[in-house]
Amino acid sequence: MSSKNIQFTSLGSVGEVGASAHLLTIDCFHILLDCGMHPSKEGPDKLPDFSMLSKAPDAVIISHSHIDHCGSLPHMATLFPGVPVYCTPPTLRIMDRMLHNCVSVMGKIRDERDVPEYPLYSHIDVENIIKRVYPITMYKEFGIHPDSDIRITFSHAGHVLGSASVLIESPNHTVFYTADICTVDQELMEAYRPPKNPEKIDTLIVESTYGATENADQILFENEVERFGSAIAEVLADGGVALIPSFALGRAQEILNIVTRLQEEGTIPWVPIYASGLGRAVYEIYDDFFDDLKPTAELSPLDEFLNVGNVWKPDVARRLIQEPCIIVATSGMMLENTPSAMIAQHMVRETHHGIFFVGYCAEDTVGAALKEAKVGDQLVFELEGAPVHIALSNIQSFHFSAHANREELSDVIDAIPSKNVVYVHGDPPALEWMEYNTAEGRNKYVPAIGQTILLEG
Ligand SMILES: [Zn+2]
Ligand SMILES: [Zn+2]
Repeated sequence: MSSKNIQFTSLGSVGEVGASAHLLTIDCFHILLDCGMHPSKEGPDKLPDFSMLSKAPDAVIISHSHIDHCGSLPHMATLFPGVPVYCTPPTLRIMDRMLHNCVSVMGKIRDERDVPEYPLYSHIDVENIIKRVYPITMYKEFGIHPDSDIRITFSHAGHVLGSASVLIESPNHTVFYTADICTVDQELMEAYRPPKNPEKIDTLIVESTYGATENADQILFENEVERFGSAIAEVLADGGVALIPSFALGRAQEILNIVTRLQEEGTIPWVPIYASGLGRAVYEIYDDFFDDLKPTAELSPLDEFLNVGNVWKPDVARRLIQEPCIIVATSGMMLENTPSAMIAQHMVRETHHGIFFVGYCAEDTVGAALKEAKVGDQLVFELEGAPVHIALSNIQSFHFSAHANREELSDVIDAIPSKNVVYVHGDPPALEWMEYNTAEGRNKYVPAIGQTILLEG
């Protein structure tokens, strides 16, 4: 007998943008939506709380290949060998690269910061799980178990290459999980597409990343591109370097192509453009899945961008910033010891450069601290490194997010008249704004990690 009611339990990324992993219990079937890793915590705290899984999930659905959505998958597969995993074909390819990179990064951090539990999984664990992932094309309905009537369909989320929202239909209850969405076109990605029969949806699980960001609705993409181009041009005219910290997946590819377009249009001069390692690897996959990008997207050849080199060597980083150039480097939040932090720590000692943030920076990251820093402040960019005196004042933020702003999220919720709305993937102020300002008169839930809520059909 199937029930109208289902259960929702979050293992992570509720009350924060952390490790996304949400368990849906529909009749006796367990579906895990995403299996992420916390981007700024260290050690086993990075993992969702897998002790809450009472049995192996019947299906694990990965919405996209950002680490906060897929980073714990190899670890979970060691706890539950044989668990079936589903995602879109581009997500599978990118996830393969991202997870192997994760193993390498954890290995480095183990030595640098003495985290003995690292790596939380091995390259072999990654290979084992990647082999068992079922790639499913967007808009192609699939089942998860011969004894189950549950049907699942991926739809276009507009966030990064391969990113999907997820429709889960059982005979008595339908769930729509937006995952990370962008409702407007980006440089390379076409906007999120709403589900076909919104009136059939009983429960909407919606991301809330920008719930606390005011006035983002007044920023038009092309105006922001123009402001960004002028800021870069100004720095280059002063003989400086423009550093753009970017996430390896999504933001880096978008920014590289925005910058190339601005050079072609004559807004910024022809100076070398550098891109850091993982962003380059993902760029190749963007090229391979060119047909999945926006129909009007143009993708510059990867070999137009130079490699930043070994910026952990101070002389390499210092040499890089001697001539005017544009550097697109990971990480977007400028975590310690990442290329963007290693380059920035030399740039901030001088006054003629520009550091331009183009995405979300979590609290407690170097990026967030640098955005707030004043000339004369000190900041540490490198673990065990000495604090650096900041002389640079040209540190700016641009709104190129791959996430919907809160007004757009509100429109998404209005367009899906579900009985239940569950808010996830947001810091507390963002969740609070979403809960009070959207979905009036509906059952609203801001769950805590580990809390199980019953969702009525
Ligand atoms: Zn994402
Ligand atoms: Zn996310």
